[in-house]
Amino acid sequence: MKILEDRILRDGQVLGHDVLKVDNFLNHQVDPMLMEEIGKEFHRLFKNEKITKVLTVESSGIAPAIFTGLAFGVPVVFARKHKSVTLKDELYTSVVYSYTKKTSNHIAISKRFLNEDDRVLVVDDFLANGQAVKGLIDIIDQANASLAGIGIVIEKTFQKGRQLIDKEGIHVESLARIKAFEDGKVVFVNDEEA
Ligand code: 5GP
Repeated sequence: MKILEDRILRDGQVLGHDVLKVDNFLNHQVDPMLMEEIGKEFHRLFKNEKITKVLTVESSGIAPAIFTGLAFGVPVVFARKHKSVTLKDELYTSVVYSYTKKTSNHIAISKRFLNEDDRVLVVDDFLANGQAVKGLIDIIDQANASLAGIGIVIEKTFQKGRQLIDKEGIHVESLARIKAFEDGKVVFVNDEEA
């Protein structure tokens, strides 16, 4: 998605060899006009999938997920992160390991907001090692809902997440695909490689 790639080149900051900081338009300050375009693009890509719900995880998935839900006209549910979960009866829970933070978080959503009639589009800000997406898929399975696809705003193709999802034969769409950070600069996968 050209406007997203341009924005990453303009405002993204490469940290170390594998992290992109995008707090100017996605992770802290949010550009709603860009989020609206992202929502419309996910709608274009998944419009034949009969989506009934958009699922993400707090907090940085919420902005693109809301605009995706708006484009589809369906509710958005975000999994909440907890250090531990005690009252499990009312909740679907899973554990997500973060390679960047080197910690595990429990994620949970209320059983009231996901059920077997749902066809779910998972939306997240980044796909890195795929652990967040894996946790959300686990929750969808527990609810006996069906996974319609995964929409990722920024994918880092040099990390393991995409491989993990492709193995399962899931429909994944990423709006910007980064193949490397070279000398502090972002290098995208070009169209021929995609
Ligand atoms: P995972 O490794 O599970 O695919 O990535 C999990 C989460 O880590 C993403 O939802 C995102 O919030 C965060 N994350 C991973 N890589 C990056 C990155 O390069 N930049 C930022 N800002 N967040 C990232």
